[in-house]
Amino acid sequence: MAAASPIASSAETPVRRLTDSHGRVIHDLRVSITDRCNYKCVYCRTGEVGAQYPELGIGEYLRLIRLFVDLGIEKVRLTGGEPLLRRGLTELIQELARLRTHSGEPLDLALTTNGHLLDSLAGPLKAAGLNRATVSMDAVDEATFERITRVPGSFNKVLGGIRAARDAGLTPLKINCVLLRGFNDGQIEGFAHFARKEGVVVRFIEFMPLEEGRLWSPQIVVPMAEIVERIGRALPLVPLPPRDAGETARRYTFADGVGEIGIIAPVTQAFCGACSRVRLTSDGKIRTCLFSQVEHDLYGRMRAGESDAELAAYIALTVQGKEARHHIGEPGFLKPSRSMVHIGG
Ligand code: SAM
Repeated sequence: MAAASPIASSAETPVRRLTDSHGRVIHDLRVSITDRCNYKCVYCRTGEVGAQYPELGIGEYLRLIRLFVDLGIEKVRLTGGEPLLRRGLTELIQELARLRTHSGEPLDLALTTNGHLLDSLAGPLKAAGLNRATVSMDAVDEATFERITRVPGSFNKVLGGIRAARDAGLTPLKINCVLLRGFNDGQIEGFAHFARKEGVVVRFIEFMPLEEGRLWSPQIVVPMAEIVERIGRALPLVPLPPRDAGETARRYTFADGVGEIGIIAPVTQAFCGACSRVRLTSDGKIRTCLFSQVEHDLYGRMRAGESDAELAAYIALTVQGKEARHHIGEPGFLKPSRSMVHIGG
């Protein structure tokens, strides 16, 4: 386990707020509810490996998430794998929507999905209490999109899913696009027009070394500066002020105020100092950083019969040991043992 500083808590007097030894307050939990996926995106999967890790029961995720919320988590994002493949998702969202934060507010409940099944699920998920969705979409051109997902017909399915989510009120609807040089960097300007036309927020994300295979190199990353420069040449950009200190995206609108794009630059402009996140994998392990070399077996403790107070103390202690930052691109950088699809992006 990563070095953890002692904390002023015990099973008898559980802490009520998650902090780490670098002074960061953790209020954002990402939960993977399956590592199965119906897409084989070329930059994520090898195309051969399926699910690798077990899934917990819906009631088990709920118990663990409740513990995090008792410790000050305010935002829960469900992810995977592909979370829409998971049976019981609607029921899980219904239960999560009943939870309250320390200040008595409902949770900020979000979902990250490839959107393939969203056309029929957007309405029921909204009705269950989901606030927002982020749909991953790596090209606005059908042929390029399907070369990436390796699933015929996926472009129109996802477009339908995006429109259904927007119409159901899962807004602001964000579209995440991971850019890779030589694969889809020709799509940048098209995405700016797409954001304006479809009324969605497009966020470009720099590619991180978290793929199943070995594709990552510094040269394949399309850096933030280049994205801003290229869009600005096509449609002048106006920077938007950050809404809070922990905001990961640099946001821009256009000269006429219509549309928004954002850039998340974990490689060229790392934002670890403002990180407020912790992750729970589909098999119930806590990961304190995407690039953690160690995982913390919360579910194993639950299975062994630990009480809620004991589990809460374990979560608090684990979060204390959160890594200061990642080391992408530095000599000696080690990829984590799990790739993005198996961690939960
Ligand atoms: N299946 C869901 C989806 O497609 O959104 C959720 C899981 S997916 C792993 C979550 C996000 O991680 C997607 O937007 C995907 O593009 C992104 N992603 C996958 N591998 C990545 C990498 N190596 N670097 C940056 N983002 C990555």
